[in-house]
Amino acid sequence: MSEKPARISYTRPSITEREVAYATDAAANGWGERCYDYINRFEDGFRAYLGVDHAIATSSCTGAMHMGLAALGIGSGDEVILADTNWIATAAPIAHLGATPVFVDILPDSWCIDPAEVERHITPKTKAIIATHIYGNLCDMDRLLEISRRHGIAIVEDAAEAIGSSWHGRRAGSMGLFGTFSFHGTKTLTTGEGGMFVTSDAALFEKVLTLSNHGRARNQKKQFWPDEVGFKYKMSNIQAALGCAQLERIKDLTTRKREILATYAEKLKAYQSISLNPQRAGTVNGAWMPTAVFDPAIGISREMLQQAFSAANIDARVFFHPLTSLPMFTERRENRHAYDIPERAINLPSYHDMTEDEIDRVARIVIDLVHSRTAAEPRPAKSA
Ligand SMILES: *Cc1c(COP(=O)(O)O)cnc(C)c1O
Repeated sequence: MSEKPARISYTRPSITEREVAYATDAAANGWGERCYDYINRFEDGFRAYLGVDHAIATSSCTGAMHMGLAALGIGSGDEVILADTNWIATAAPIAHLGATPVFVDILPDSWCIDPAEVERHITPKTKAIIATHIYGNLCDMDRLLEISRRHGIAIVEDAAEAIGSSWHGRRAGSMGLFGTFSFHGTKTLTTGEGGMFVTSDAALFEKVLTLSNHGRARNQKKQFWPDEVGFKYKMSNIQAALGCAQLERIKDLTTRKREILATYAEKLKAYQSISLNPQRAGTVNGAWMPTAVFDPAIGISREMLQQAFSAANIDARVFFHPLTSLPMFTERRENRHAYDIPERAINLPSYHDMTEDEIDRVARIVIDLVHSRTAAEPRPAKSA
């Protein structure tokens, strides 16, 4: 009887005494006049970290995106362009607002939205383009911002997966008209659940701030007096306390994520048939989710990968399904890369406290699979 090897989780937050101390303080003392202290501190710190003028802490990234798109006046009859490769959270707010998500293909190397496809799908109804920096990889922001200027259409960044990523010196989430972040328990910086809306546009900030407080503007003197129907997507002070502690450790948190990706890259560098998250010259990949994509020629499928990892008690996850393959949207198989890549890819475990041995165990699974395929591969074809 062979004993099962210890489980390797795919993500897990990095929580130290600092997080526990701040959250405990917020729970014990963060009430009454002090009920916004950690929220204000978290927003100020995040603003400074990102290099933007305004930040609003929210209950989720989904909520931040919902309010941002609502503040742009997006609604029925409007179109929003986004990559087919995305988490549903990016598309759901578009649907909630009664607008139409227009799903386009990704680039085969960055797995992010293809700017040429964006341009090809612009119509008079297009009101925004969402650039999602998938798994920490960066969208081509130069081309997207140029398209945005030429057509007068806003670029919005979903940077939920991209804290620690930067594009030629500018942090992911700080380049579009607004950016959104997630602090879900699986993300690099976590508050359990939570998010952030960021912008350097003062008018947009005021609009979202009002929307975020049930439509009550901050200069409204009357009590209990909303001027419009808004949202309730606020972060609690206790969550923000966790966020403050995590933000003080942000350098360590992102450095460790990058180290883990680099370690995988080192261990797998001899294998031409494996591509990991790219890092183009002039960019920094925050490496939220190390992901391996296999060359189609080698014939390694998602199912083979899932089976191998599951047998080794390792929690690897599938690459995002194209959203248009889900029942509530219309299939768009012309989004070739978005449909093809997930069939031969896997997300590798990457929590901060992973040991070298654990990274090695994960890499071994990948290497053994590649060997099993390359051994099988040169088999001469039967003569016709
Ligand atoms: C995690 C994630 C979200 C959603 O974040 P929530 O905080 O759970 O709303 C949105 N977009 C992407 C790309 C994500 O990975």
